[in-house]
Amino acid sequence: MLKDNLFKKILDKQIPAKIAYEDDLCLAFHDINPQAPTHVLIIPRKVIPTHADLTDADRELLGHLHLVAVKLANQLKIDDGYRIVINCQDRGGQTVPHLHMHLLGGRDFHWPPG
Ligand code: 5GP
Repeated sequence: MLKDNLFKKILDKQIPAKIAYEDDLCLAFHDINPQAPTHVLIIPRKVIPTHADLTDADRELLGHLHLVAVKLANQLKIDDGYRIVINCQDRGGQTVPHLHMHLLGGRDFHWPPG
């Protein structure tokens, strides 16, 4: 179930995280419970609760998040293949109500996902 927006607390430096990248639009940090050898979360600074809340105003921001993922995949040496996941709402497996992109790599991934 969607709980507190603890990613806002990470953005506000109220709780610590291992930061991988940051700029004026987004922050990327290592997941506390990694599902692959490399597992980074890329989040916008703008509070957008879920993927379903995106609007036309977020077009450039979304492109930016994807380009940051490409940059990070190179820096973290997972550019031989990686998976990007955005869970949306309870049924989609989302637990933190702040839009985030999972960037996973360092192992093989299969399809369909669970
Ligand atoms: P979701 O299930 O919402 O798509 O993903 C939430 C992710 O946030 C999970 O992979 C979970 O392990 C991660 N997470 C939850 N709490 C924390 C935390 O306090 N710090 C970090 N770095 N990751 C967290």
